[in-house]
Amino acid sequence: MRWNRLRIGLSAICAMALVAHDHPAEAQVIKAGPPSCPAVALTYDLCPVRTASGFDRELIDFLIANKIPATFFMSGRWMTRHDAEVKELLAVPFFEVGTHGEVHAHLPTHEMEEQQREIQGPVRVLKTKYGRSTTLFRPPYGEYNDQTVEAVKDLGLRFILWNIESGDPDPTLTADAILARVQKRMKPGSVIVLHANGKGKHTREVTETLATTLLPAKGLTPMTVSDLLRCNQATAPLKP
Ligand SMILES: [Zn+2]
Repeated sequence: MRWNRLRIGLSAICAMALVAHDHPAEAQVIKAGPPSCPAVALTYDLCPVRTASGFDRELIDFLIANKIPATFFMSGRWMTRHDAEVKELLAVPFFEVGTHGEVHAHLPTHEMEEQQREIQGPVRVLKTKYGRSTTLFRPPYGEYNDQTVEAVKDLGLRFILWNIESGDPDPTLTADAILARVQKRMKPGSVIVLHANGKGKHTREVTETLATTLLPAKGLTPMTVSDLLRCNQATAPLKP
């Protein structure tokens, strides 16, 4: 029972007896912000890509032009091929940056030491090459085991998952289908996972509809993950 997915399967079967936080390691895994916060986090993974540019220029331009806070999880391999784009994202004051492993490994298939190396790689590069300290970490594929959680904690990082999977890299999903999925699950404090590496054909369109229509209709605003995690009613922006 090493893999998280198996554990989720078990939890589903024993839903009445098991809640996620009964497992000590599971309590470190952040899937959402406080439900009292009238905001959501739009998060974009930068997983390595073999083909294509690996950067959704239209999406980034839209976010910047409309001053929409967002959080990006960069993999080390993506960073080595996108130096200019790393610098560009780091320069935007309302963007936040976290890391997403060195080579996008399946972490639970590796021993502790290798997991630590995979997790630490891009954290170190951001610090030494770009002078930026980052504490947010998201595991590739959302896969982890107890050792992953321990490694993240030992490295002084925060383990950020999500509670809404947009499914945006799936080429069979239309923008409407992605939006319907997100809208169904969206609530205050939600963390939504999307992609900024060009894998999502409709990611820009989905982001635009969320930011301009769906979120305002529910009285929700986009926030970075860190802001969302420290958000409460007193500090949250007022509803229009
Ligand atoms: Zn990824």
